[in-house]
Amino acid sequence: MSLAEDAPIGSARRRRVRASVLAAIGLAVAALVVVAVGLFAPGGGDVAPAAAGSSAPARRFEIIDVHVHTTPRAQPRLLELMRQRGIQSVVNLSGGTPLSGLDEQLAAAARAPGKVIVFTTLAYEEAAFEDYGSRMAELVRVAHARGARGLKIAKVLGLAMATRDGRRIPVDDPELDPVFAAAGELGMPVAIHTGDPEAFWLPVNDSNPRKEELEAHPAWSIYRRRVPSFEALLGELEVRIARHPKTTFISVHFGNAAEKPDYVAGLLRRYPNLYIDTAARIPELGRHDPSAMRAFFIEFQDRILYGSDLGVGPAPTPLFLGSQGRTAPTAAEVERFFDATRRYFETDDKNFDHPTPIQGNWKIAGIALPPDVLAKVYHHNAARLLALE
Ligand SMILES: [Zn+2]
Repeated sequence: MSLAEDAPIGSARRRRVRASVLAAIGLAVAALVVVAVGLFAPGGGDVAPAAAGSSAPARRFEIIDVHVHTTPRAQPRLLELMRQRGIQSVVNLSGGTPLSGLDEQLAAAARAPGKVIVFTTLAYEEAAFEDYGSRMAELVRVAHARGARGLKIAKVLGLAMATRDGRRIPVDDPELDPVFAAAGELGMPVAIHTGDPEAFWLPVNDSNPRKEELEAHPAWSIYRRRVPSFEALLGELEVRIARHPKTTFISVHFGNAAEKPDYVAGLLRRYPNLYIDTAARIPELGRHDPSAMRAFFIEFQDRILYGSDLGVGPAPTPLFLGSQGRTAPTAAEVERFFDATRRYFETDDKNFDHPTPIQGNWKIAGIALPPDVLAKVYHHNAARLLALE
């Protein structure tokens, strides 16, 4: 999911600041609707019928999904889904802040020990204050003391978050240094979404790979908006990662650049503190040459984390499966979301449907990772990073 999943709302002034942030990029609205307000349309079924047409091997790996969005009220549903799918633990990236939502999220997670790991969210609305960097850093410290295990930063940073006098706050803004320093000191990985996907900058026409998704969500397009280029934002992110070698970064959605794995490989070679997750980017990865992608996963087998971008609200609202169409996903689409993901990692099948059809009208090919690499990507890397069993 996308922008400001969980920013709390304080004073009227804060509300105005936040409103302008949201207005600048419509994505935030969608994210808020899906997660905070929980307005999933009814009709999505979670229960998986037998997979059709998959040749995924029978062996099941324990999975830690480092990229999930959920709410306290949805937890029973989430736990049932995890049981069905062999998911040992999830990271909830919509944890909120000590000012709003975090305590409820932590209380829910505490009822399922080891199952739900909560990341706090950057307190975006603090941008309304002059000393926003130190305020946000202090809230990260408070969140850690209460039980948050990492920090999530949505792409509102870089695209829309602005100071009280209207200056865009870049990803590498020095005022924010204390936030990243605090996360490093406290051993909290920083899951950061910047810019991605590139297609949201492009005109919405037949040559746009995300045409269908952008037609369903016109507000997600930033074509001709007054924002930096995709490359400029990635540049800011790199400066940020380079500046904090003692802070672990999880650059979400395949390093925020699933379109260009060679670029992501360069970053991973340069910055040992950088990890990436796979959330909602199997469609994009599946377009690349499978032998090159296999080589990528083998080279960086200790730095890639399984993530899905699954959104789980209270039943009967539909699941968010890495994206969302105009209508609720069918049971078959829910099944394909999980099945096609495994099929990509575990088989060398060719020409099959990817997990999120709205994210591109093409077929993908699997990369048949060796079992020891699969175990690391599905489980061991995240277990090590999050100090789980
Ligand atoms: Zn997400």
